[in-house]
Amino acid sequence: MMNIPFRVTAMMEHAEMFFPKKTVISRTASGVQTLTYREIGQRTRRLSSALKKLGVQKGDKIGTLAWNHHRHLEAYFGIPGAEAVLHTINFRLSPEHVAYIINHAEDQVLMIDQDILPLVEGLKDHLPGVKAFILMTDEKELPVSSLSPLYHYEALLAEGDPTFAFNRDIDENDPVGMCYTSATTGNPKGVMYSNRGIALHSLALGHVDGGSVSESDICMPVVPMFHVNAWGLPFAGVWFGTTLVLPGPQFTPKILAEMIETYRVTISGGVPTIWLGLLKELEENTYDMSSLRFLLCGGAAAPKGMIRAFEQKHNIPFAHAYGMTETSPLVMITRIKSYQQDLDDEAKLDIRAKQGYVIPGVEMKVQGANGDIQWDNQEMGELLLRSNWVADSYYKQEDQSAFADGWLHTGDVVTVDEEGVVKIVDRTKDLIKSGGEWISSVDIENALISHPEVYEAAVVAMPHPKWTERPIACVVLKDASKSTVTKEEILEFLAPQFAKFWLPDDVLFMEEIPKTSVGKFLKRALRDQVKTYYDQ
Ligand code: ADP
Repeated sequence: MMNIPFRVTAMMEHAEMFFPKKTVISRTASGVQTLTYREIGQRTRRLSSALKKLGVQKGDKIGTLAWNHHRHLEAYFGIPGAEAVLHTINFRLSPEHVAYIINHAEDQVLMIDQDILPLVEGLKDHLPGVKAFILMTDEKELPVSSLSPLYHYEALLAEGDPTFAFNRDIDENDPVGMCYTSATTGNPKGVMYSNRGIALHSLALGHVDGGSVSESDICMPVVPMFHVNAWGLPFAGVWFGTTLVLPGPQFTPKILAEMIETYRVTISGGVPTIWLGLLKELEENTYDMSSLRFLLCGGAAAPKGMIRAFEQKHNIPFAHAYGMTETSPLVMITRIKSYQQDLDDEAKLDIRAKQGYVIPGVEMKVQGANGDIQWDNQEMGELLLRSNWVADSYYKQEDQSAFADGWLHTGDVVTVDEEGVVKIVDRTKDLIKSGGEWISSVDIENALISHPEVYEAAVVAMPHPKWTERPIACVVLKDASKSTVTKEEILEFLAPQFAKFWLPDDVLFMEEIPKTSVGKFLKRALRDQVKTYYDQ
């Protein structure tokens, strides 16, 4: 068989050749623009040639600090076109972490959105390695800025070559992308993506039993393009000729609902917090959501109550998937197997609130205290994964223990049922140990969120003199001003669902639960908050 290197740039060539009329709908600071793949392809080539003219060399890292829009999409392909590495940066992290990431990755050039300019200006004295800045703006003129040299993205493109030829003779294992994990513990860790890994992962996104993204879809990645490449949807979407809808800066649930309605979006991807926000919007206002084939949800557990509300109240199908920065990210998705179709809705929901089974091309094993665990829904162990789209190391990092023995040790504690369906019980660090037994915070959270008056819930461990740790529930109500629900009622609601020792010792009503920059519960901060509450 031939052995042709997989190339990210070949995805754009394919879109230009076979889908030149298909479009990318892009919301930016000044409004919504529609560009065809012919235009996007030419602009991408202009960008690659402009970067080369700026002196970008093979393997250089180019950081992007940008929302989801067409210029960022062009960078996804134009940076690889210059044989450089696309380094998407989470600009919502603390400024210290952003500077750490830029310096650790040794970014040579930064491509920045206008509203993120002040952040980079504030950091510039701490970024000795950055040689040039490019502003991705709708404005004609560059603003006054302390960054130097600062280039105008559109001016660079105007001078670029729309016929620039991508190098076809590359090593498919060359790094082409990089992303840092959110810093839930310590400094963020860098993951490098290869041309090969991205291409194989894209095929998995197109697999009918994987992401099932196709040419006929209109796909709106809400998940940021700095968060694991918006789950790879921009790569797969361009390759398959999918219409992409990019929601741009500072979007709200209302903007998302309107975009779904206006552009007849068929697939949209985001973390549960995004979908909780949309659900609230749908409860307050009426939209036509009938175009949606499904909402893809991952990054944190999708509560069963939320899946039920979308499907039963709003007739919007839901797909729950699991992945990590280290895994490109898609490795598991929940699917009801053909012979399970006759199960009743509740039984199906139970399966679909779990994280699913691995998609073809991914291998898993689960290591418990005594080796591989039984697939009995009971025994717990750490989920280990390997695949051609799972990273094999962290970039320039001493501690590589997460990749011991050729497997990624995910840090997720899981059980597995006899069908191979994985259920995340907790992060290793978030499990609650009470009286020698483990309690899953995730299970209690899922139960809490199915209470009609509860909007969000997180459960954390508090040290306990007798039991080592005890669970405390933190609850945000849908409408705190009108609600009369009490701690006792919440506990009564939980009681029939759990063993007595699992029931939280306390229920704290809060205005909000602290979250990471990508919208996941920040349990460490929540634990500190709860501890301060009890210490007072
Ligand atoms: P970080 O760990 O820094 O938040 P990631 O965004 O890569 O970075 O998060 C990966 C983690 O997110 C997984 O290890 C897992 O704990 C959690 N996660 C991802 N998808 C799901 C899901 N569907 N259900 C529960 N947890 C999930």
